[in-house]
Amino acid sequence: MDPSVFDAHAGDWSDAPRVRPGMVVMPRTPADVARALGILASFGQSVVVQGGLTGLAGGATPQPGEVALSLSRLTAIEAFDRLGGTISVQAGLALEQLQNAVEAEGWFFPLDLGARGTCQIGGNAATNAGGNRVVRFGTMRELILGMEVALPDGTVLSMMNKVTKNTTGIDLKQMFIGSEGVLGVITRLVLKLEPKPAAANTALCALGSFDDATHLLKALRVQLPGLSSFELMWDGFMRAAMDIAALKAPFGDAYPVYVLVETLGDSAEDDRLALERALERALDAGLVQDVIVAQSIDHSRQLWAYRETVGELLSKLKPHAAFDVGVPMDAMDALVNRVHDTLGARFPAQTHLFFGHLGDGNLHLLSGPYADADALLHVEEVVYQAVSEAGGCISAEHGIGVIKQSFLPLSRSDAELTLMKQLKSLLDPQGILNANRVLI
Ligand SMILES: Cc1cc2nc3c(=O)[nH]c(=O)nc-3n(C[C@H](O)[C@H](O)[C@H](O)COP(=O)(O)OP(=O)(O)OC[C@H]3O[C@@H](n4cnc5c(N)ncnc54)[C@H](O)[C@@H]3O)c2cc1C
Repeated sequence: MDPSVFDAHAGDWSDAPRVRPGMVVMPRTPADVARALGILASFGQSVVVQGGLTGLAGGATPQPGEVALSLSRLTAIEAFDRLGGTISVQAGLALEQLQNAVEAEGWFFPLDLGARGTCQIGGNAATNAGGNRVVRFGTMRELILGMEVALPDGTVLSMMNKVTKNTTGIDLKQMFIGSEGVLGVITRLVLKLEPKPAAANTALCALGSFDDATHLLKALRVQLPGLSSFELMWDGFMRAAMDIAALKAPFGDAYPVYVLVETLGDSAEDDRLALERALERALDAGLVQDVIVAQSIDHSRQLWAYRETVGELLSKLKPHAAFDVGVPMDAMDALVNRVHDTLGARFPAQTHLFFGHLGDGNLHLLSGPYADADALLHVEEVVYQAVSEAGGCISAEHGIGVIKQSFLPLSRSDAELTLMKQLKSLLDPQGILNANRVLI
């Protein structure tokens, strides 16, 4: 095998130390995934599951001695119900390819995230991915109707349900969604589609405070049924985004908080007028200080460009601490201020950037670069302790992987952790699939 293949499979997007796998297995069919797992299990060989490797928790990064099982060749669309709006796909299909394929047929797959070109639909399921449109369509969990899984011993568990309502006992697929490959390998998925919206409208708003953002969200939820994104960016993030991508300042003045609003609907003109009306009301009420409503698709892309610099910022600030915490909305402002002040005082030379998907309480913090592992650990302790005290969870999107394992008890009770370990032992008695991830 070409040595560059081993390098390409040595790690994900996180800062977990890269390790070249002993072997890379690339099955061509779901049945071959199961067969490969069965053979590897008969040798007691430990395996790491790899999707698009865009994960930010180190779960797909090999550990010494592991074989990498890559889903990258499982890219087929197997069935498409163009009347009912469901699609059956193999797990290695890239999210963007799926989006494009269904849009060409008048349908829409609403999950969307910055890594769309590379992340795979199976990886999205394994991490219960969220992204930019959760406020309207929910996380990946809400978009999955059915699934096929290859268990660690090679047993195939087929649950390719195609109907929305199914009350036939325990819904086993839920156990695999968000479990980061520790219980089985997702090989196929049945996904729920939405009719393709005819129009997307975008606006960038400048706000005087976080509090105003929470009131704006409530007002827009009432006035704009098509509201699909409500992305919050604090001032520091905006400045870093402009800097890294050489973008112009969107407004004449700087503001403490910016919100990117998107609506999806069926009439470009009517939807834009509705968005403008709602934002005019917000301006009159003093909730918004200034606003830009995109007048074309290109203009909309320009507004999204600030938010889409996350990938570049992640690379620039390495080695970084990247957080994806969940925080109740009424506790978010105080938490951001507390963490900002604590980290700013302790690490003044580092950059600390806050942004998030306000509609679903998901706050991101990107902090770095840190050459020193102790400093990184200290940053994690500061953030996770504050999140725990605020009643939040330590991961709302990226998962636990290897980089948050020691903090999991801050978000899960002893009884929950015990049951998770029992499930792991039941399905993977040898402890060979994605071992030493999520649970310790
Ligand atoms: C620029 C950027 C932006 C991002 N934005 C978001 C965002 O907005 N929202 C969000 O939720 N995430 C985001 N992410 C994180 C990442 O893209 C998601 O976690 C994504 O779902 C991972 O998919 P993947 O195919 O790359 O999985 P990988 O990184 O390959 O794997 C992730 C985990 O899932 C397991 N896994 C992968 N495939 C399977 C499978 N078929 N069966 C079982 N287990 C499997 C792996 O073992 C690993 O534990 C972002 C990442 C980047 C780099």
